[in-house]
Amino acid sequence: MPLETDDENPMTPYQLPFPKDAQEEIVVPNAIPEDERIWVPQTETVSFRPLCLSRSQGYWTNLLRVRQSGVLSRHRHPQPVHGFVLKGRWHYLEHDWVASEGGYVYEPPGETHTLVVPEDVEEMITYFTVNGAMVYVDPYGKVLGYEDVFTKIEMCRDHYAAVGLGADYVDQFIR
Ligand code: FE
Repeated sequence: MPLETDDENPMTPYQLPFPKDAQEEIVVPNAIPEDERIWVPQTETVSFRPLCLSRSQGYWTNLLRVRQSGVLSRHRHPQPVHGFVLKGRWHYLEHDWVASEGGYVYEPPGETHTLVVPEDVEEMITYFTVNGAMVYVDPYGKVLGYEDVFTKIEMCRDHYAAVGLGADYVDQFIR
């Protein structure tokens, strides 16, 4: 219970303005889109659908889609990742557990892994929040490249311009 209240009607909405510096909310009615152009391809079998691209806090929330026998290259996470599997099943070469539909995964800072979708799964879709960066590495940790919220935004811009949605289509997801 609240400490002190003269709130008689629980259905009364909050009456004050939001903080003037607060950002706009993001509402995405079809998070799993009907329009294929919204998926931003990363490779032949891997693509992502942006939901929140936080340039102010350096993270991104997206749906990752991997089609049959897809591999998401070996990468290291300097910061935590949260995942919720919406469709299909996948695993990491570095672990013996399997993430399947309805499952939640926490990837702690320091993880390096390679995501694989097995051949019998046509498609997997997982909601991921990735903080900071993904650092692509060779099997011994030598850095080959990275992705962060800014490279993600750039990929979206280029793709959305190319498919006719317009480079600024991505702006609605940026905070
Ligand atoms: Fe990962």
